[in-house]
Amino acid sequence: MSNIRFRALETTLGRLPVKVVPPGGKVSDFYGVNVFNREAMQKYLPRDAYKAVMAAIEHGVSVDRKMADLIALGMKDWASSKGCTSYTHWFQPLTGLTAEKHDSFFELSDGKAIEHFSGNALAQQEPDASSFPSGGIRNTFEARGYTAWDPSSPAFIMESASGKTLCIPTIFVSYTGETLDNKAPLLKALHALDKAAVDVCQYFDKDVTKVIATLGVEQEYFLVDTALLNSRPDLLTTGRSLFGHSPAKGQQLEDHYFGSIPERVYAFMQDMETEAYKLGIPLKTRHNEVAPSQFECAPVFEEINLAVDHNALLMDLMEKVARRDNFKVLLHEKPYAGINGSGKHNNWSLSTNTGKNLLSPGSTPKSNLMFLTFFITTIKAVFEHADLMRASIASASNDHRLGANEAPPAIMSIFLGTQLSNVLDEIEQKVNDKKMTADEKTALKLDIGKIPEILLDNTDRNRTSPFAFTGNKFEFRAVGSSANCSNAMMVLNTIMANQLRKFKKEVDSLIDKGTKKDEAILKVLRQYIVDSKNIRFEGNGYSDEWVKEAKRRGLSNITTTPPALDAYVSKSSMKLFEEMSIFNHREVEARHEIMLETYIKKIQIESRVMGDLAINHIIPAAIHYQTTLAKNVEGLKSIGMKPDTMTTQIGMIMEISEHLGMIKTNVDKMIDARKKANKIEDIREKAIAYCDEVKSYFDTIRYHVDKLEIMVDDELWPLAKYRELVMIR
Ligand code: ADP
Ligand code: MG
Repeated sequence: MSNIRFRALETTLGRLPVKVVPPGGKVSDFYGVNVFNREAMQKYLPRDAYKAVMAAIEHGVSVDRKMADLIALGMKDWASSKGCTSYTHWFQPLTGLTAEKHDSFFELSDGKAIEHFSGNALAQQEPDASSFPSGGIRNTFEARGYTAWDPSSPAFIMESASGKTLCIPTIFVSYTGETLDNKAPLLKALHALDKAAVDVCQYFDKDVTKVIATLGVEQEYFLVDTALLNSRPDLLTTGRSLFGHSPAKGQQLEDHYFGSIPERVYAFMQDMETEAYKLGIPLKTRHNEVAPSQFECAPVFEEINLAVDHNALLMDLMEKVARRDNFKVLLHEKPYAGINGSGKHNNWSLSTNTGKNLLSPGSTPKSNLMFLTFFITTIKAVFEHADLMRASIASASNDHRLGANEAPPAIMSIFLGTQLSNVLDEIEQKVNDKKMTADEKTALKLDIGKIPEILLDNTDRNRTSPFAFTGNKFEFRAVGSSANCSNAMMVLNTIMANQLRKFKKEVDSLIDKGTKKDEAILKVLRQYIVDSKNIRFEGNGYSDEWVKEAKRRGLSNITTTPPALDAYVSKSSMKLFEEMSIFNHREVEARHEIMLETYIKKIQIESRVMGDLAINHIIPAAIHYQTTLAKNVEGLKSIGMKPDTMTTQIGMIMEISEHLGMIKTNVDKMIDARKKANKIEDIREKAIAYCDEVKSYFDTIRYHVDKLEIMVDDELWPLAKYRELVMIR
């Protein structure tokens, strides 16, 4: 059989699981061995240099040249001792991926080879920036961009078959200082948040001098056999299948075949865990699959900048490890139509230098007022900037998931659980109650103090909410599995910082007018509760009723990316970003443009692949089969059989013709739509054209191709079928 699909199936069949040899011993023996962590720094850095790094990590103090030289020297010695010969600045450009530019430690000094790594090389590097998206920023300014060391995320060693490389986490900026990456804005947001949150904490606890955000990322993914993948140009180039008839019983298949984890997958997971541990990623793989061949893993939460880096690194790592095991990791939000998609739940909270989780209800009235302050301020912040939150998770691939009856809808709402909803209702009713005596108000405060400690175990789990409170953290569930979550987290932390700042101002102004502190706090919180009521929703987010109800409430439901991205450049967002010193106008506009460009490219590629596959693979296979049927009819006639005994064959021949006609016509129309769209100058208009005019043909073309899939002789069908792709042998 020359059919690529059958060749793929043959290579896959009977493959033995890859034997992974873990480095041996306990996890604690090799955890973090490839990280320039505190322990390594203490060993390799002089005291002053160590202190300088610590001051940079803990207080954002910049590292001077002399110290940078010492740190570089120690880092090089450490890396060399581990067998590294080169280094790279590791950064997260706006492609959504990670990028590296490798340089060797090797240098010539008076004709002699030496290994050298200077403070300069540590602190700054100039990658060839022209290949990374900049939204026009570099064209108008200076055609250079550079990367700058982020000491708050530790350097690490990437191992590959061909060697080891020291990776230094960096930000990526234009020569004139405009941000061109995902990390710099996040760091700015975290800085703003720290300041705003500490100021508010001072109402409750004078010992709080630093607040960090924490993040635990649940990562869902699919695995597919490499050989089968190679028979699917669509999966290979776009990350999702553009065609494919769902298996007869859809997801229920998993009961049959996927009860336990196939050994190959188990080997991959172990391998991935081991590699993650070496890099200090505190992974806790979970072996539960939701859909066939879908899996999930989550690390223990960490400081957010580190957690975001670790997730980006993990996505890289998964792909690398999978290759060894002849798998491909599909991080796309929706690789298979009709089968559950993948998300990346972002579990987010705030934590103080005193070790308090600010979103964890306390055991005393004082600490609970603090909890309520941060809790309610988050709700208000998300309410005020719901559209920006929606924009922060918008992408061509996530569009398939949001609102697809399996994932949170594109409507931003917040789930609190019954108990906390009741607490908020009570505050709303009582705080402004003129009839209440001072004593009663004190009692109310005490009442608030009684937020039950059982809360943690008891939070109702509403899985359909895009933003849910889950006991001691909020969980932003609408983030897509392929996303670099810094975008969503930058927005969340920025709006939170902004709201905390406003909160402080409002409370201070009441205090200035003579209101007692606690009462002032409660008053402002009450107002926030009233203002943001519409965004609270405890019901089923997947239901049609909610779509209607949300409309009545005036909540946005923007189902596609191009219009969702508008929120980045709205007046209120621009003001927000500028006030919080995250982006200037140019930076936001550039970013907006890059996201639209990315969207266009994604749809354009999908559309091309779809057209090619339909015309070059599907139609020929169907014609081939149709010819066989026609020959059969001819043959039967030649032995004297009557046409009315051949209605099945003749019917099928006609049906195939109809599908072929529909496919060809719609592919042609789609190509025309693409040509038209390509002529549009305005990038937003162009993206909308791709969304509304080009993409709109996908479903029709797919419908007819999928119909052919179930008619055409299985042996002639060129693409691996869903049941083959999702079943791991
Ligand atoms: P789910 O029930 O949604 O599957 P899990 O409990 O499995 O969630 O995972 C929750 C994630 O939340 C983990 O990564 C965990 O480390 C993280 N998490 C727990 N507490 C916090 C916190 N205070 N801040 C941020 N993330 C947290
Ligand atoms: Mg979750």
